[in-house]
Order: sequence, then C-alpha cells, then structure tokens
Amino acid sequence: MSVTDRCNFRCPYCMPRERFGEGFSFLERKEILTFEEILRLVRVFAGLGVAKVRLTGGEPLLRRDLPLLVAELVLVPGLRDLALTTNGSLLGSLAQPLKRAGLGRLTVSLDSLDPDRFQASSDSAVPLAQVLEGLEAARSAGFQGTKLNCVLRRGFNEADILPLAGFARDQGLTLRFIEFMDVGTRNGWRLDSVVPAAEVAAIVARQWPMERFRKADPGCVAQHWRYLDGGGELGLIASVTEPFCSGCDRARLSADGALYTCLFAPEGLDLKTFMRSGGSDPDLAALVAARWKRRDDRYSERRSEATRDLPRAEMYRLGG
Ligand code: SAM
Repeated sequence: MSVTDRCNFRCPYCMPRERFGEGFSFLERKEILTFEEILRLVRVFAGLGVAKVRLTGGEPLLRRDLPLLVAELVLVPGLRDLALTTNGSLLGSLAQPLKRAGLGRLTVSLDSLDPDRFQASSDSAVPLAQVLEGLEAARSAGFQGTKLNCVLRRGFNEADILPLAGFARDQGLTLRFIEFMDVGTRNGWRLDSVVPAAEVAAIVARQWPMERFRKADPGCVAQHWRYLDGGGELGLIASVTEPFCSGCDRARLSADGALYTCLFAPEGLDLKTFMRSGGSDPDLAALVAARWKRRDDRYSERRSEATRDLPRAEMYRLGG
C-alpha cells in the first residue's frame, strides 16, 4: 500500500531526477486516498484473506500523521502483519510514534555505507549518518527483526557487499540484496548492470560461510541463507536472474487507489473512483476478487525468457 507518491530521495534507479525533477507533477492532495479510504480498502482486502500489509511509497514517512493511520490499521480484523519500507531518513523522529501506534516491522533501504556513494545513490541532501541514526532510533524504540534492503548495481556499489553484510551481522539486522530491476525502461536499466544473486552469495560465503534454507511462507520472494557461525540470515532477491512471478502473491495499491497485480503492470484498476462514486463494500470486494482471479502477470519471467538464449551484445541492447 503506497501512502504517498512523493519522496525526499532521487535514487537514479527508482525516481531519477531527470524525470522526477522540479517540473514533475506529483499527485494533488485530493487525488490521494484519505486515511478513511485506505482503511476501508484494507478492511475489504482483509475480508478477502489478505493478512499482511506493507506500507510504502514514495517515502511513506512523508505522509503526514502516519502513526494515526497505523494505529487504526492494526485494529483491522484479520490483519496479522503490518510492516513498512522506508529510506530511514525520518525514523529519528518517527520510529517511536510508529512503534507506539503498533507498527510491527520495518525494512530500511540502504545501498551503501560509504558516505559519498550513499549520496550518489540517494541523490538527496540527507547524509548517511541520518539514516544510521534512524536505524538506531528504530532499535531504541523497540523494533525487532528490522531488515535492510540494498539494490546492487554493477560498477557502482559492489564494493558495499561485504561492508553491508558485516554491518548487518554486527547490528543483528537481516540484509537483503535486491537485483536491480527494470522499472519500465525509465531508469537506465541494462542487464549488464545487474549483479546476479548467485554472484553475491559466492562473495559473501567466501567471507562468512553460509547455507541456503527454505522458509515455510509460500509467498516469500527472497532466497534465504543463514550464516554457519550463527551470525544471522541474509536474503537475496533474484528478481531478474531467477524471476518468481508464479510464486508472487502480492497486490499493490497506488497512493491514488489503483490496484496493480504486478509491480510492472502498465495499468491499474481504479478503486478510488469506484469508492468515491458510492460503490458498496460487497461490490468493492467483488471487483477486487474478479481482478485478482484473472491476473496472469509474468513480466519478469517473460523478460527473462526473452534474454536467456541471446548473445550478450543482444541482451544488453534489450536492456536499453
Ligand atoms: N522510499 C521507501 C524506501 O526507500 O524504501 C519505499 C519505497 S522504495 C520504491 C521500496 C524499495 O524498492 C526500496 O528498497 C528500493 O531500493 C527498491 N527499488 C526501487 N527501485 C528499484 C529497482 N529498479 N530495482 C530494485 N529495487 C528497487
């Protein structure tokens, strides 16, 4: 569930400044779902069997009064897990109110522990130290099981693999390396800028031997590894080299209330207009269920099939 389309970072692989700069028109306030509308949707989804909600964005901590929303969401019957993904820059002041409101888990995105590379990666005025303080604030507020997300790009932050893994081990955090994904060819994606999960596993295992294990959760998209010395776990999200479309059970709601059954789907189903024009909850549930039943998104698998047997030069051309 995206609670805002705005972000205070301009990560080149996600919201590149050339595209999301001064002239970009973000959603107007009236276009964004209100807290009441978000709650209504979450209740409907929970009624259809959804047990886990992740708040995201844009940068979700930019949404005013977010702890008030969290406090209501945790009361939704059937919802067992409420998590949030953030760039961590505002956790210093918000970790405690979010914990008090009942937020269950946090994932913090962190692409580098090198201050200069962090700056280049986030393309913002926020210093690395502010995110590290945010992580500390989360710990002091009592969050446990916090995850770190790192998007690796070839030639940019491979040097961060071991420092980040070491940091996560020391801090008791679970680090996940995510393969750089093509989000609609808007982010300069090229296949040769993807660092394959298998390569990351080999680099980390050379330093800290680890073994792969399976988690019971069928909708889980990460590969799980555990360090043999008891130093915790590592996750690898091989969205490009080993796409998992068939195992994906995620529905995505944009800040303006459109339902997407794939991160890469070109169009969503406009639930906001349906709600604002007086649609009832049972009709809303039927609409969502019908859309869910006919989903057949296989964006990443198709992309992978298209590139698998090509000579490398051709693969790079396809990657733009
Ligand atoms: N602003 C929040 C944050 O930074 O975590 C939440 C939104 S952000 C889009 C959610 C996650 O998506 C982040 O961990 C980010 O690194 C990841 N992400 C964004 N673009 C990506 C891409 N092209 N490939 C892989 N991961 C990406």
